[in-house]
Amino acid sequence: EIHMPRPDHPRVLCVANQKGGVGKTTTTVNLAVALALHGNRVLVVDLDPQGNASTGLNVPHHAGVPDVYDCLIDNVPLAEVAQPVEGIPNLYCVPATIDLAGAEIELVSVVARESRLQRAIAAHPEKFDYVFIDCPPSLGLLTVNALCAAQEVLIPIQCEYYALEGLNQLINNINLVRQHLNPTLDVSTILLTMYDRRTRLADAVEQDVRNHFGSKVLEAVIPRNVRVSEAPSYGQSVMTYDPGSRGATSYFEAALEIAMRGVNTGGAA
Ligand code: ADP
Ligand code: MG
Repeated sequence: EIHMPRPDHPRVLCVANQKGGVGKTTTTVNLAVALALHGNRVLVVDLDPQGNASTGLNVPHHAGVPDVYDCLIDNVPLAEVAQPVEGIPNLYCVPATIDLAGAEIELVSVVARESRLQRAIAAHPEKFDYVFIDCPPSLGLLTVNALCAAQEVLIPIQCEYYALEGLNQLINNINLVRQHLNPTLDVSTILLTMYDRRTRLADAVEQDVRNHFGSKVLEAVIPRNVRVSEAPSYGQSVMTYDPGSRGATSYFEAALEIAMRGVNTGGAA
């Protein structure tokens, strides 16, 4: 039995990369489930109008369901829209419906437009051990809201050609948010995803990323694994769909590393 330590303060992680298809949602869902299955109280905030995290956690998010849009635009408390994830005690999800597609535009004229999500999370009466915010594939106001609400940024990087391209833009935006809105924001975690060990390219990308980001890069690397991509169509994470798969064991290792690092930073993560 492996001991997964609980953090002594709530950790809010923004899972961001403006590239689509790099594993943001898959990482959010599987880390959240792994941590919840090991005794942590976890909230997932789906901040992508596509609602993939809501789908992956099997949380209703059809039109009309109260969602994160209502929190951002109409000040509805998070607690009123968060739904329990079936089958995973201690895991909750604030879903995204198609309504959220309008938020990027509507936020422009709202008071304190960058800090709507931060306020909503801070006002939540119950303290979670982890809040994961699944960002859309853009650097607009939704992602800025996530960066303002978080203490930590987790960047998933797909092990493919051009992996580092565009990251400068993301890092620049993070630096701007740190300077003007959220001084303690920290890029704490880089996770290599969809690693294909049969290719020399994946190995080269891994070396590049490790040289560039050093100890921020988790030792755990997520392999390309068909079980990971099958799981959402069963409304499950790979952690429950096929716990023995390499995808599941790798996400578990990544979750454990994140938990251990949170303890080692003494709460200053
Ligand atoms: P993003 O949220 O960054 O757009 P997703 O998490 O939705 O990326 O992943 C993009 C696609 O890749 C999805 O179809 C997902 O199922 C698949 N995928 C993600 N991680 C893996 C993996 N480790 N192995 C195989 N397929 C994966
Ligand atoms: Mg996604």
